[in-house]
Amino acid sequence: MLKGCIADIERAATHDGPGLRTTVFFKGCPLSCVWCHNPECISFIPEIMEYPEKCIGCGKCDEGCFSGARVVCGKEMTSDEVLKEVLLDKDYYKTDGGVTFSGGEPLAQPEFLEEIIDKCKNSGINCAIETSMIYFNEDIFKKLDLIMCDLKIWDTEDHKQYTGVGNEQIKDNILKANRLDIPIIVRTPVIPEINQGIEEISKFLKPLKNVMQYELLPYHPLGEGKRRSLRLKETNFSIPNKEYVKELEKYVFIRK
Ligand code: SF4
Ligand code: SF4
Repeated sequence: MLKGCIADIERAATHDGPGLRTTVFFKGCPLSCVWCHNPECISFIPEIMEYPEKCIGCGKCDEGCFSGARVVCGKEMTSDEVLKEVLLDKDYYKTDGGVTFSGGEPLAQPEFLEEIIDKCKNSGINCAIETSMIYFNEDIFKKLDLIMCDLKIWDTEDHKQYTGVGNEQIKDNILKANRLDIPIIVRTPVIPEINQGIEEISKFLKPLKNVMQYELLPYHPLGEGKRRSLRLKETNFSIPNKEYVKELEKYVFIRK
């Protein structure tokens, strides 16, 4: 049985797809978005997050910290161990809830991901993914009920500057995924300091028949505390105000 590195498993999630869901956060991502709100999911290996304000100075760091001042993020799990957690809430998923594979980039651990998906589907669980779309994996996509992906910035040079990779592959993968008959939701994080080309992104997505929804995700600074705990440089982007987001909402759509 395969093992993979999981950062966290969150139960009763309401923002990671339809219905009540369990979100499995895979550890490791080939992108490095400067605004990433899950920076603990970028490295592929377990790492220590430090919260000095919680330290009570007991000096027992070698035995493991019980005050939450030093937390190890990331653990090796088997697909059965992940399934066991997912099954805990099976009765609450009802018709549209289920499991969402997120991260990090779940498709960066494809064999492990596919093994979990197969086990979840065998247990009758709805499966969705949140992906950067840097990878296209037809076998995995065909097993899913929903693909949620980002197109973060239209201009590829700007995309490279802020995420570490160009976006040609991502655009191409969205076009390829559109040919599979699986519903797709595309999102763009909204960060006022970055010119993201939201109008161009919307025009690109509109003709794609399986893109059921294009939505905006206003930036929030939740990742900053985690960046500090990982000793990463803080980014300090602004939270977009309501008027700014409302103006951009003319580009979002839901296909009936
Ligand atoms: S174990 Fe935790 S609380 Fe105790 S000294 Fe180490 S970091 Fe601080
Ligand atoms: S793709 Fe997602 S997880 Fe990866 S660095 Fe960007 S925001 Fe973070």
